[in-house]
Amino acid sequence: MPKLNVFEDALVRLGRIGKEAGISAEVISGLRHPKATLSASLPVRMDDGSTQHFIGYRCRYNDTLGPTKGGVRFHPDVTVDEVQALALWMTLKCAVAGLPYGGGKGGVIVDPKKLSRLELERLSRAYIRAMADFIGPDVDIPAPDVYTNARIMGWMVDEYEAITCAKAPAAITGKPILLGGSLGREEATGRGAFIVIQELARVKRLDPKRTRVAIQGFGNAGYHVARLLQKAGYKIVALSDSKGGIHSDKGFDVESILQAKEATRALRGVYCEGSVCQEVEHSKITNEELLELDVELLIPAALEGQIGPWNADRIKAPIIVEVANGPITSEADAQLAARKTLVIPDVLANAGGVTASYFEWVQNKQGYAWTLEEVRSRLEAVLTRAFGEMWRLGTEENTPMRSAAYTLALRRIAEGIGTKGTREYFQEDAG
Ligand code: NAD
Repeated sequence: MPKLNVFEDALVRLGRIGKEAGISAEVISGLRHPKATLSASLPVRMDDGSTQHFIGYRCRYNDTLGPTKGGVRFHPDVTVDEVQALALWMTLKCAVAGLPYGGGKGGVIVDPKKLSRLELERLSRAYIRAMADFIGPDVDIPAPDVYTNARIMGWMVDEYEAITCAKAPAAITGKPILLGGSLGREEATGRGAFIVIQELARVKRLDPKRTRVAIQGFGNAGYHVARLLQKAGYKIVALSDSKGGIHSDKGFDVESILQAKEATRALRGVYCEGSVCQEVEHSKITNEELLELDVELLIPAALEGQIGPWNADRIKAPIIVEVANGPITSEADAQLAARKTLVIPDVLANAGGVTASYFEWVQNKQGYAWTLEEVRSRLEAVLTRAFGEMWRLGTEENTPMRSAAYTLALRRIAEGIGTKGTREYFQEDAG
């Protein structure tokens, strides 16, 4: 897999779709420039007494429609380009979902699996110390992403509150429930993807029982979408994590695999009854092989840049739902379109996470907690509407669903920018 500059690639796609959709060049040119990106050194006292300096980033990409919003990723491959690409996608995603937010993102170059719990806590707090003046409940609101979770968000909000000397739960979302987190936030990215897939199944008349699903990435997003799909009758025939995958035409029991993974930290093809897990017939596959399986539905739910010109022509699945951010490169868009592969883009497919984060933020501001049913039904309402808008535009204009979703987002952002005046508006006055 060749190394790709994800930000440059994201800008290529933005330029192409913006032009096709007739969005003003002024707006697209504005969206090529992140509003502000902070890079900071994060000194962390390690357990052996030494100090290690990690590099952390936070990008506030565009805040036309509201304060910027986006996760914080802890991963050894984090780069400033990746953070900025993810922040641009967050800008589009919030606009697609109709949320009053702009887009942001953060990351730290670290392999969190190599840190002790105490080191991880110190790193999370160091990140907030470095970013405290750059974020805030009405400025930029972090949340979990790859290899960060509710506990880490809890440390982060605690540090933010210690610095600002006030309770500020709306400063960070994806928190533990007792620190102001929302019911339903943890599962929301996977549930959102599931809602989108159910809508797709309705319009495409998919029969869950005849739909074999392969999922790359068995983390927060991958697990919940797998669990909900299996419950709805879909056959989950392949799953993977960073170390590789498992495949069985008979399908897996998702809860058993989670149970075994939690106990042994390895992805194993097992079926569990109570605490007793037995191996089921399956084969071991690589992450590359998983992407090329003969299945009806492929769900990349790990990292970006997984499907590109090097493998796009070997993808057999007729439908890809991008639960990960940016799993398909811009070059592969055309190859997949030529093969008539239907791609449901990340900016809609994984928008459930930020939508529930928005609900958490609203609850924090109201000082009033919603029930799980309220969160789930509002999530369904937001995503069903967004899916319907994208599907209508894509079908009416016969464009790929990514172009339709981008067009909806770009029109909203352009309208927001337009209210402050565009070149045309000021020129009229001068003329
Ligand atoms: P996570 O940390 O919970 O899980 C990541 C999973 O990916 C793990 O199973 C890990 O083993 C696997 N993985 C890591 N490297 C891999 C590789 N090279 N090949 C295959 N698998 C690999 O992360 P998550 O929150 O589930 O995020 C997954 C994707 O979903 C990311 O693209 C993230 O940006 C996106 N996303 C997450 C949220 C959220 O709320 N958590 C919201 C929107 C989008």
